[in-house]
Amino acid sequence: MALRADELHEDLLYRRYLRALSRYGEPEEPQPSPGHSIRHCPTCGAHTMFRLDPEGMWAECMRCGHYA
Ligand SMILES: [Zn+2]
Repeated sequence: MALRADELHEDLLYRRYLRALSRYGEPEEPQPSPGHSIRHCPTCGAHTMFRLDPEGMWAECMRCGHYA
């Protein structure tokens, strides 16, 4: 019953994946690169990537282009 064993194995991998997800969170959260940060935009309401201006005082929302 090789097929049944494979199915069991896949099920185990899937459960490990789900457990890892709940432990480490969703992998979809992008890691900010230098000069970027993830913020909550007060203008469009998105929790998204912001690009910091050269002075680092303001950040531009990558979704709507507003500064915050
Ligand atoms: Zn925005």
